Amino acid sequence: MMLGKYSFGIGDRFGRQGKALLQAIIKAKEQGVNITPVWNKSQREHTITKTAPACVRTEADEAVKAMKWKDSFYVDADHISLENVDFFIDSSDFFTFDVANFINKSADEKELTGFIDKYKNHVGSLAIPGIDKTFDISAAHLEAIASKFSPAIKQAGKIYRHIEAAKGADNFITEISMDETDQPQTAIELYFILVAIADEGIPIQTIAPKFVGHFNKGVDYVGNVDIFAKSFEENLAVITFATREFSSPENLKLSVHSGSDKFSLYGPINKALKKFDAGLHIKTSGTTWLEELAGLAIADEAGLSIAKQVYAKALSRFDELCGPYTKTLDIDKNTLPSAAIVEQWSGADFASAFRHDKSCEKYNGSFRQLLHVAYKIAAEMGDDFLDALEKHEQIISKNVAENIYERHIMPIFME
Ligand SMILES: [Zn+2]
Repeated sequence: MMLGKYSFGIGDRFGRQGKALLQAIIKAKEQGVNITPVWNKSQREHTITKTAPACVRTEADEAVKAMKWKDSFYVDADHISLENVDFFIDSSDFFTFDVANFINKSADEKELTGFIDKYKNHVGSLAIPGIDKTFDISAAHLEAIASKFSPAIKQAGKIYRHIEAAKGADNFITEISMDETDQPQTAIELYFILVAIADEGIPIQTIAPKFVGHFNKGVDYVGNVDIFAKSFEENLAVITFATREFSSPENLKLSVHSGSDKFSLYGPINKALKKFDAGLHIKTSGTTWLEELAGLAIADEAGLSIAKQVYAKALSRFDELCGPYTKTLDIDKNTLPSAAIVEQWSGADFASAFRHDKSCEKYNGSFRQLLHVAYKIAAEMGDDFLDALEKHEQIISKNVAENIYERHIMPIFME
């Protein structure tokens, strides 16, 4: 299985927007831009919404059938580990191994010396085409990289062979993610990570490093855009080099997680992809659910009441909801309106605080981020919430498709 050059990870917490999401991709295809849809959902999301991987497979299959999509599509077991991968084996054909927890884990001595011995010929200077400077790699630097990353790569090997034994090597796509960690990986670290992954026999097609700056859920990038642009280009140069120099698959590409709403990065990403003729996988991070909530808030009184209830409960259960997402949220509690104030709001007030439009004075990024993780509250509402989605399907699906096509696909891949 070969993932296309451009692919889009469409997360859909409640599984109701499959057709709307695919509609955005069909629109791009009509404009001559081929993007492979990948439905992704993690164990964490399944637990919170009380769903199973089979639900995602059904959603994807039904959407593809209804929309007469003839090209490839995949179902991604997102952020899996050896502990939960079995849950996903039957329904998924794309696996994102999360090995971030194994970065810096203590490796056994033999493993470390093995890593260092294998790559000690890299000590010295290294030039990577597309990067202006040459890198001086010292023995100490190599040792530091070995102890930082070799346990994570060994773990990825274990996960890969586990899935391979169950599904067969050619029947799934492999992504390795290291994004949910504190330190961004440098270009040189990425270089050794890719060499070692190739040597471990893992045919990865996408890799999700941690990029510089902050990729918070549902809001724009926080950090220096120029520094990001430079490091993103360096990463692309390393990937191009890796596909030429080692046995990494030809279509190896970067994967950007929590990629939705990073509006200030899309210009630099678009430019870099063109410069390197590179592919990209980008995952949306569940903002489809925010479009659902925004649609309800403006649809009618009952919809607005649901949106207000979600917020009031989210505020009172702040720590519980934000706990699993500490690395990808930055909420300033002082700017959150009280539940009593929000209770007075009209649908338009709610939507303008919530919608990601930075030119709008009322836009409140903390309010939006808290609602992003509040999908647990909506899940607990059960049919009250799902029935409202169905009632307002038209307005919501239009928002979902437009958000992905106009605000994401166009600036990233087209324009
Ligand atoms: Zn991720």
